[in-house]
Amino acid sequence: MNSADVEKVKSLLVPGRKVVITTHSNPDGDAMGSSLAMLHYLKKKGCATTVIAPTDYPDFLAWMPGDSEVIIYPKKTAPSNQLIADAELIFCLDFNALPRTGEMEKPLQSAKATKVVIDHHIAPDGFPDFLFSDIHLSSTSEMVYDFIAAAGDEQLIDRDIATCIYAGVLTDTGGFQFPITSSKVHRLTASLIEKGVSNSEVYEKIFNTFTESRLRLFGYCLSEKMKLFRELKTGLITLNKEELKRFNITTGDTEGLVNYPLKMEDINFAALIIDRTERIKLSFRSKGSFDVNAFAREHFKGGGHRNAAGGQSSETLEAVVKKFEEVIQRYSGELNY
Ligand code: 5GP
Ligand code: MN
Repeated sequence: MNSADVEKVKSLLVPGRKVVITTHSNPDGDAMGSSLAMLHYLKKKGCATTVIAPTDYPDFLAWMPGDSEVIIYPKKTAPSNQLIADAELIFCLDFNALPRTGEMEKPLQSAKATKVVIDHHIAPDGFPDFLFSDIHLSSTSEMVYDFIAAAGDEQLIDRDIATCIYAGVLTDTGGFQFPITSSKVHRLTASLIEKGVSNSEVYEKIFNTFTESRLRLFGYCLSEKMKLFRELKTGLITLNKEELKRFNITTGDTEGLVNYPLKMEDINFAALIIDRTERIKLSFRSKGSFDVNAFAREHFKGGGHRNAAGGQSSETLEAVVKKFEEVIQRYSGELNY
């Protein structure tokens, strides 16, 4: 982390300063963990801080300390726009380009505040005044810890901050399974536990709180819907509107589903294509060298990381699935490792 920039941003964190923290649409554990960790830290610095999430997020993330203070943009659009316009400083956490904030893009674009990005996605846009970007780090939450430490404020990290950071690191490393889980990550999480994090409780709250219908949906997808392309080492799950309705699916219920085909030894690429009301949402995951970020960018207006990315389309589900099944044929060389 560029220490000169950390010092400059730190000098802006003075009591009474109006700060907004925001993150990407459909926030995940790292988005909420990093945002809420930063909220607690900035409050300790005396800043008048608000977290605005571009969209709602699932119940299994809605328990972190400070959660009740989060403003969901579409539920309070006018007051949020006012906060954004009045802000002196805006922290953009866990995203690399303003379109990732959906409806918040325009107000953020026109905000006069100094913008600080802390993020670990590939190819960040040049919009911020201060950019802390590192694709080699596990999570934005890890980077928030690094930022606080680089600012000389490590002693301010209390149980609440540590819990939010732990939740972000835990989710973005897939429970410490991804190769990005460095020894530094393990040392960091050890120190978070020493600061009072109840690691087992955090795991339970995030991963073991399925509703019956969500678990049955997973079972249904695996037994009835998973299509394998053996020669491409690829697994695909699709969900249409009728199925989402039948299983009474709400925000976040499909989180984690895309990973299941990868549990097979000889499957290296997994995709989940869902017919959401507004558009088709695609999720991609891989094991090993296949770059799903490049794949998502090239074919589905998306992006992300090498082993986890997403995209979208405004075509029909049938058309998107057909396109997916066609384009993967071009990758037989790359997928056969
Ligand atoms: P998920 O499949 O969980 O929605 O997303 C996985 C990863 O891909 C996340 O890191 C997320 O930031 C990124 N991602 C998901 N959807 C999009 C998208 O539409 N555009 C871009 N640029 N990144 C996405
Ligand atoms: Mn992240």
